[in-house]
Amino acid sequence: MAKRLTVEVAIVGGGPAGLTAAIALAEAGLKTALITRRPATDHRTTALLSGSVTALETLGVWAGCAAQAASLRVMRIVDATSRLVRAPEVRFAASEIGLDAFGHNIENRHLLAALDARAQTLPSLTRVEDDARAVETNDAGATVTLKSGDSIAARLVIGADGRRSLCRTAAGIESDGRAYPQTALTFNLAHGRPHQDISTEFHTESGPFTLVPLPGERSSLVWVVEPAEADRIAALDDASLNDEIEQRSHSFLGKIAVEPGRGIFPLAVETVRSFGQSRIALIGEAAHLIPPIGAQGLNLGLRDAACIGELVVSARRDGGDVGAPDLLARYDALRRADVKSRTFAVDLLNRTLLSDFLPVQSARGLALYLIDRIGPLRRAVLREGVAPAASQPRLMRGEVL
Ligand SMILES: Cc1cc2nc3c(=O)[nH]c(=O)nc-3n(C[C@H](O)[C@H](O)[C@H](O)COP(=O)(O)OP(=O)(O)OC[C@H]3O[C@@H](n4cnc5c(N)ncnc54)[C@H](O)[C@@H]3O)c2cc1C
Repeated sequence: MAKRLTVEVAIVGGGPAGLTAAIALAEAGLKTALITRRPATDHRTTALLSGSVTALETLGVWAGCAAQAASLRVMRIVDATSRLVRAPEVRFAASEIGLDAFGHNIENRHLLAALDARAQTLPSLTRVEDDARAVETNDAGATVTLKSGDSIAARLVIGADGRRSLCRTAAGIESDGRAYPQTALTFNLAHGRPHQDISTEFHTESGPFTLVPLPGERSSLVWVVEPAEADRIAALDDASLNDEIEQRSHSFLGKIAVEPGRGIFPLAVETVRSFGQSRIALIGEAAHLIPPIGAQGLNLGLRDAACIGELVVSARRDGGDVGAPDLLARYDALRRADVKSRTFAVDLLNRTLLSDFLPVQSARGLALYLIDRIGPLRRAVLREGVAPAASQPRLMRGEVL
């Protein structure tokens, strides 16, 4: 016979954004269900900026994976285009803005394992290993129906179910976006020379080629190219790939040895028109998709999780309805500016890389030159890149909910 579980908040999707929201709510004592299908193997890494690391520390997650993360102390941007106008090489150090590191790079599998381990310690959290098949809402609450036929009743549903979100459709939320003529290839690799905690982004005509430190003499690579070129690279054997990566990186990391586990991701940008309505709040890639430039995607997703967590915990303390329309409207208002501004900046940077139009290339070169040379501007850009002045939820400031 089908079972029915009643909770205060049901979260659909056990990726990093969903798990973080679940931990934040359950830690504050809310009866929470996390509906999660077995995740696909993810060989990517995530550069977690310092606010995200603080939030994970505050939630008791970071201690479980800190040893597998590498510090990002310096960022280097190299214009590797062969264009007439090229930007100067720019280096930013975290110490310029009083930080030990901009953040930490970690393999997603280690981050997910630490989140999973922490989630299992929380008595208020019920983990349901199943697929959500339907979400229905009304003025009083929401019901999530599972593939098994069981169902979960809640006051609020958090859609953390990724880019093809069932929750987004159930809430009737539209999104705006478009696909880019670009594909990201991901690899983890060992190398002969130390990375010295420096992340290096080569800008090329087809997109960035970014090497980000991992612990030891290892790094992750996100290589953005045109789709046909991605197919060619994906078909290379390890030896040819090693040579090509070494060549593209101008051998600064010495000999390269790619590890098993390659990834291929068509790039797109997409933002929802509403972050929450009809008792459904959207977080992570269910709400926004952003190209992997400047490490913003999951950092935004974790801020979504922290923000909805903060609003829900506060409503619950005041004896309010945790899925009320005014709470969702407030969530929408709080997240919109942060997501929109970062999407705009990343989209603009990506488009200036792809553009063959000389004035656009000159403007990009000039912008990087000015950022490099003008101290206060440089520090303002760095601070804003690491932590938005306007929207740092409490967890990102190290405050428990
Ligand atoms: C190449 C690349 C590099 C990146 N690098 C960075 C980086 O350095 N820094 C950064 O901040 N971001 C980065 N990102 C972005 C980051 O990877 C994503 O933002 C993040 O993985 C999204 O997490 P999520 O939890 O929102 O979604 P997902 O990880 O997609 O999780 C969604 C989960 O929901 C589950 N699910 C879906 N539907 C259902 C259902 N009906 N029922 C039950 N479960 C369901 C799925 O199985 C999945 O487990 C990168 C992205 C790419 C493509």
